[in-house]
Amino acid sequence: MLTWLDILRFATSGNPSPDQKVKKSDDEWREMLTEDQYYVTRKKGTERPFSSDMCQSFEPGKYACLCCKTPLFDSTQKFDSGTGWPSFTQPIKPNAVSYYKDHSHGMYRIEALCNACGAHLGHVFQDGPKPGGLRYCINAVSLEKIIPVAGEKQTVVFGGGCFWCTEAIFQKLKGVEKVVSGYSGGSIKNPTYHEVTSGLTGHAEVVEITYDPTIISFEDLLRIHITTHDPTTLNRQGADRGTQYRSVIFYRSEKEKSIIENVLDEVSPYFENPIVTEVAPFEYFYSAEDYHQNYFELNKNKNPYCSVVIEPKLKKFRELYQEKMV
Ligand code: FE
Repeated sequence: MLTWLDILRFATSGNPSPDQKVKKSDDEWREMLTEDQYYVTRKKGTERPFSSDMCQSFEPGKYACLCCKTPLFDSTQKFDSGTGWPSFTQPIKPNAVSYYKDHSHGMYRIEALCNACGAHLGHVFQDGPKPGGLRYCINAVSLEKIIPVAGEKQTVVFGGGCFWCTEAIFQKLKGVEKVVSGYSGGSIKNPTYHEVTSGLTGHAEVVEITYDPTIISFEDLLRIHITTHDPTTLNRQGADRGTQYRSVIFYRSEKEKSIIENVLDEVSPYFENPIVTEVAPFEYFYSAEDYHQNYFELNKNKNPYCSVVIEPKLKKFRELYQEKMV
């Protein structure tokens, strides 16, 4: 996640290399763009505020550079800033956008350009929503919306106690491409299992789920997560106790955060006790050691934990979500 300090560093010391470079002559750009598009993207113009419906559109999808079609932003990072220009809080990748100091019009601002073709997009400010705190104020005319198609993947990170259990559940869902056991939400880089089990690093045992949102929705993954572990016991799942076993959901945008809060409200009447699941901004995911991956499948006949703890959870899961399973 980029912060204001990263943006200042890029603008001062140089931008990261783009995945691709697109070069055209001024005449070629003028040929392929309308007058408005050319004025904004190639001559650093600004469109009138509230001149596009794109400000109020939050449908899923990506936003590409109008000039070179490189993906720049994702709808999950889009928010309503009220400024009259489409606003995002992060680019789609750290190297998608490039940053330059802009002293025009008697102001000091940071200009945002497409890092592939140099198209002027708009400016970046430090008054955006948490956790990153950035506001990319972008001309709608510089962007082209790409509607999602089957096969475009999203990821989400959940903790629900021992990751051997959570992994075994999510591996069995239609639309889930990959489940990786790991650690998230702690204070040190690349923690080991030994360090995490000490409870001192602050990490939770989690799974990173890669899924196809056209087959299974973010909401359904949340419902399945909440109803297949106990979200009402603080820092504990059954006999497993410690902050590393806490119930947690990590969000990557304000939009995901509000979806999570809505789903928690929706399911809370079904629980006898209050839900204590932590909802936290995603920062880092570290894969666990190889021997933790695919644990239930590889150890179900060897480790009694699998038959005593994991198998009953899977039974409950099969009963609840038969129609969503592979
Ligand atoms: Fe571009």
